[in-house]
Amino acid sequence: MGMCKPSGGINEPIYGKVGQNIPGSFGPPNTRTDLYNIDNPKELLQQRWYGPDGRNLWDRDWKHNDSHHNHTFPHDHYWDWTKPPGKQRPPYKGPNGEDTNNSYC
Ligand SMILES: [Zn+2]
Repeated sequence: MGMCKPSGGINEPIYGKVGQNIPGSFGPPNTRTDLYNIDNPKELLQQRWYGPDGRNLWDRDWKHNDSHHNHTFPHDHYWDWTKPPGKQRPPYKGPNGEDTNNSYC
């Protein structure tokens, strides 16, 4: 078990605009998808991990242009499926105030 080498592997990358999230609520179980900037294809925008049930589990934002918080980049959001739509992606704060969880990589 470890999200650095997801047991289901890493999906083909997708490309989108800055500020876009990886679409959808599900992916192949225990995998990760990376979103790159369609206008600058080497630039990573977001990574998403999917859980054992395939639901979105964890996001790492490398760049976005909305100002939903003043975090530095990268920063993480976890998915909370007990929350209503629009509130399912709270920012992650680690025990020492860190913005990313290094068990996801
Ligand atoms: Zn964010």
